[in-house]
Amino acid sequence: MGKVWRSLGVLLALLSPLHGWAADIEKLRIWPAPDHTRLVFDLSGPANHRLFTLSNPDRIVIDIADSRLKASLASLDLKGTPIKDIRSGRRNQKDVRIVLDLSAKNPPRSFDLAPNNKYGHRLVVDLLKPEKPRARTLADTGRENKADPRRDVVVAIDAGHGGEDPGAIGPGKLHEKEVVLAIARELAALLEREPGFKPVLIRDGDYYIPLRKRTRLARKAGADLFVSIHADAFKDPRARGASVWALSERGASSELGRWLAGRENNTDLVGGVGTLSLDDKDEVLAGVLLDMSMTASLSDSLEVGRYVLRDMGKVARLHKQRVEQAGFMVLKSPDIPSILVETGFISNPGEARKLKSRSHQQALARALFNGIKHHFTRKPPAMTWLAWKAKQRGVPYRVVRGDTLSMIASRNGISLKRLREENDLKSDTIRVGQVIHIPAS
Ligand SMILES: [Zn+2]
Repeated sequence: MGKVWRSLGVLLALLSPLHGWAADIEKLRIWPAPDHTRLVFDLSGPANHRLFTLSNPDRIVIDIADSRLKASLASLDLKGTPIKDIRSGRRNQKDVRIVLDLSAKNPPRSFDLAPNNKYGHRLVVDLLKPEKPRARTLADTGRENKADPRRDVVVAIDAGHGGEDPGAIGPGKLHEKEVVLAIARELAALLEREPGFKPVLIRDGDYYIPLRKRTRLARKAGADLFVSIHADAFKDPRARGASVWALSERGASSELGRWLAGRENNTDLVGGVGTLSLDDKDEVLAGVLLDMSMTASLSDSLEVGRYVLRDMGKVARLHKQRVEQAGFMVLKSPDIPSILVETGFISNPGEARKLKSRSHQQALARALFNGIKHHFTRKPPAMTWLAWKAKQRGVPYRVVRGDTLSMIASRNGISLKRLREENDLKSDTIRVGQVIHIPAS
């Protein structure tokens, strides 16, 4: 028997090269982002690759070992990317060679991604846009704004997921990443029109940004608030309702919270963050700072969360009546109050239909806007236009029994005429409990 098995083994060894390749390149996707372009190869199995660059003209060559190209290169949309053309060939009978013709030098970076519950083996190639030294960056804008004594309140709007990571998927292949980007853009448009506010879209296209980088971008822009926008999915299609989340210092406040936080945090595995990043070297330090300053921004987060939730309750069914807390990584921004808004359940057919409609997206954005505006009007950060405006309006004073308008004026060392004008009063009649703003004398 032993001899038979041995012969069979030899036979199999001889046959194996004809049987197939280590990997098929099944599909190719491309995601242009402002600072890089990402190419993703879907592979049927793990494969070694080698990457090198050539200049005059600029090219990137990717050799994928022992593989076969099944994907179509012609169908790739290269618009908005530095890739002029993409070609393929065979090398040594065994390897697939992919050549990217570039319009400019874009230093590449490549890494493999292991399978997860959405995708199989992947090879990721990022083309990094060279930094222009004179270009204005988000950091410049943030610094300039912070130096202005009447600066705008900066709201960082983070549309969840993007690119390789679709987020939750609802009936009719409705992608969370598209719904939340539409809502984010509506919210940005509302804030843009409002004096004293400046929106910053963390993601403004269909590409992926790692979780840590999202808060880093917000900090660079000098954000006063970080709002992450999402849509839920749950195993049970009956689950429904919008909710607002703030970071919890100690674990999740509900079972669903724990589950959700796990899912939203997992997104980096789907979106693909690569293996090693030098930026994460200060992780320990960041962790310490995080714990120190978390409490201050947490109470602000909860407060703005309450206003947003209240206004969302007017346009959508709420999942819970109070701001929930969970350990979302995307909210771990030490100095910036942050909330995560789940706009509804995309897995619920009824809510998916609403989330897809422009009018509902606008209503949700309006609710977010109202809640945010309410919070900052009540509590304007120092040195902002809103704080200046509030001071102009004066200190509120509640009228008590026995007060007259002229008494209040003389008590505060201002003329009756000025007090009347500042408060838009048609007559001098006031009533107990009425709030009068006392302008600075
Ligand atoms: Zn999400």
